[in-house]
This record gives sequence, structure tokens and C-alpha cells, in this order.
Amino acid sequence: MAELDVAPAIATRRDEAIGFFERVISRGLGWARKYSLFTYPFATACCGMEYMSVAASRYDIARFGAEFPRFSPRQADLLMVIGTINMKQAPILKRVYEQMCEPKWVIAFGVCASSGGFYDNYAVSQGIDRIIPVDVYIPGCPPRPEQVLDGLKLLQDKIASQRHRAIERAPELRPGERDLLAAMK
Ligand code: SF4
Repeated sequence: MAELDVAPAIATRRDEAIGFFERVISRGLGWARKYSLFTYPFATACCGMEYMSVAASRYDIARFGAEFPRFSPRQADLLMVIGTINMKQAPILKRVYEQMCEPKWVIAFGVCASSGGFYDNYAVSQGIDRIIPVDVYIPGCPPRPEQVLDGLKLLQDKIASQRHRAIERAPELRPGERDLLAAMK
């Protein structure tokens, strides 16, 4: 049998094995991540009261593994934008988002964050998705705590189903190749 005849079979089995491990690891990471969310509450307006209500004992967001608010973006992976975002706040929101480490997620909490709400004027951002990417939108003015928990569960489903890809390491460069690459830069 020619060598070329067996090569595709070997490649397929290797890809299958990598795919299998990717799926197993993805499932484990997704499960761990969805129950260990660290929230940065970017609260600017009246929706903040509703966030407090979700965090308090009656609705108890701790049941979903998201009870720890973090007031440093470097320690958070879930940005909850809670309330109206005016144009002056837009660069601050963008900076906060950029300071968060990957992987990170964003929830637009209430109609003001989702679409500007009834503040249809030049001073208010007509939705935070014009500034940063958004994963889940929660409607309502303000949204009920049950709606917030529904939104959080949607996000958890999204996190759990995320695929994590195995990265193949690039081969080590030999000294001559390294010099050549440096010269080309
Ligand atoms: S959605 Fe309603 S409750 Fe929330 S910040 Fe806007 S006006 Fe206030």
C-alpha cells in the first residue's frame, strides 16, 4: 500500500482525537465558568436599585454562582451595564470593558442600556452595543429581578456551550531562522 493511501486515515483519527478532547475540555471549562461569574456592576441610574434587589436575599443571585460584585474590571469577567449611558460616559465604559481580561461577557440591564430607552436625544447613547459588544439584553424599565435571572441563565447557557479550541504550538525556530526573521522585520 502506498504511503499516501494511509495518510488521510491517520490525519482523520488525529483530528477526531483532538476534537474529542476539545469537546470534553470545553464542557468542563464551560461548566466551571458559568458558575463562577465575577460581576462588575456599571450602575449609573435607577436600574441600580433592581440590581441590588437581585443581589439581596429574596432573589439571591448567589444561587447562580454570580454573587461577588467586583469593583475592579481586572477582577471581573461579567460587565453588567445598569442604567442610562450618556455620551460622556461612553469612553469610560469602553475603557472599563477593555481593562477586563478575556474571556468576558456583557449584559445590557434595562431598556436604557439596551436601546437608550425613552431618552431619545443627542446626549444619551442609543444602546451600549454602539460602544462595546453585548451578549444578553434584558428589557424592562426597570426589569424585574426574575427577568434579570432569566438573562443570567441565558448567558450561562451561552458560556457553557462555548467551544474552546486546542492551539497547536508553532515549531521552535533555529538560530539561523530567528536571525532571518529579525532581519525581515
Ligand atoms: S431602564 Fe428605566 S429604570 Fe432603568 S435606568 Fe432606564 S429609566 Fe431607569
